[in-house]
Amino acid sequence: MAATGGDYIWIRIPAGAQTVLLDCRPTCLRLGIALAFSAPGVIGIVAGIQGYCAIRGGGRGRRREPEEGLNLPGAAKQELTMSKKQKTNSKQSRPTSVVTGAAGFLGSNLVDLLLSRGHKVIGIDNFVTGSVDNIAHLGGHPHFKFIQQDVTEFIFLDVPVDYVWHFASPASPIDYLELPIQTLKVGSLGTHKALGLAKIKKARFLLASTSEIYGDPLVHPQTEDYWGNVNPVGPRGCYDEAKRFAEALTMAYRKEHGVETRIVRIFNTYGPRMRLHDGRVVPAFLSQALKNQPLTVFGDGKQTRSFCFVSDLIEGIYRLMMGSYGLPMNIGNPTEMTVLEFARQIIRATGSRSRIVFKPLPQDDPKQRRPDITLARTRLKWRPWIQLDAGLAKTIEYFRARV
Ligand code: UDP
Repeated sequence: MAATGGDYIWIRIPAGAQTVLLDCRPTCLRLGIALAFSAPGVIGIVAGIQGYCAIRGGGRGRRREPEEGLNLPGAAKQELTMSKKQKTNSKQSRPTSVVTGAAGFLGSNLVDLLLSRGHKVIGIDNFVTGSVDNIAHLGGHPHFKFIQQDVTEFIFLDVPVDYVWHFASPASPIDYLELPIQTLKVGSLGTHKALGLAKIKKARFLLASTSEIYGDPLVHPQTEDYWGNVNPVGPRGCYDEAKRFAEALTMAYRKEHGVETRIVRIFNTYGPRMRLHDGRVVPAFLSQALKNQPLTVFGDGKQTRSFCFVSDLIEGIYRLMMGSYGLPMNIGNPTEMTVLEFARQIIRATGSRSRIVFKPLPQDDPKQRRPDITLARTRLKWRPWIQLDAGLAKTIEYFRARV
């Protein structure tokens, strides 16, 4: 399907069985992206001057692993161009949304919703924790473009933009424990770049913040006016403080530059496209249960969480962006349960023969978490609609095909 050779790469496009020589030198990347996206059923992602292309076409093709394409010099400032017609029509016809973290669990689900609501979408991701599989179905989509880039570097787009949705960040405890500096950088420098893009484009900006900004909360359930209980030097500090900084920076851009901003505090969310091995409780328990392996409950399992199905969450976030509320807002499902109850529910839902084993509780693991969603209910007329049973059924179907 693809063969690399220095600055060049050969690609066979399955639809027309053509072979195209793609020049991967930075000046020619634009052509490469255009070619890759104009081929039906193919998603081509060009990364770096050494030449690399991830191609998915009808289940065939070769995919390089994320780390192979990272930190290459050419990937930093790719320019995306669209036709003149698109440039002038942006406001009048389809709005243009930029989604950072577009290949992630939440980002890719958001991209799908935006496309279904008539947006043109430019997705950005560096695949540190995102996966090309999450956007492979969008190959050839006329209103989706993709840029492989680390958003801590300057984001240059030569088109009008109406909305910037900043979702890029490692988000599972295992990920941000492994990547503390990248987590801090994307929350700080990445948010700065995304806000800068929104400012120059006069676009509306939404920050994907988190319930983690409440830390191990002393107020329960958590209301937006609670300031939190965060250990800045603990293992979760890199994520919690990055997001707290990101919220502060967002408010500063709002006040000083007049950027129209939104901040969503996302509580535990689950659903298709979660990574099997991201260490979060839903994929951990599901993959263990589906393999009939013991479910690893941390601590005594009495800590609580409240799980929101991804489509509910994305709907709430969409409403927040389109509405007028500019201060932080919780979006999550207030149905709270202990982790032990959750483990039992997973065993029942999967029909597994797994037993439960107890492992040490990680440091600073929040003891209880439940969103107060009064604000979302009243301002957005939003509430979670999907019951845990139904959401788990969809998630189990997704995981069953992958374990
Ligand atoms: N947890 C667990 N077993 C696992 C993974 C997680 O008991 O294999 C617990 C974890 O200690 C926490 C809860 O499940 O109390 C939710 O963890 P998760 O990593 O999903 O995210 P968090 O809500 O802590 O950010």
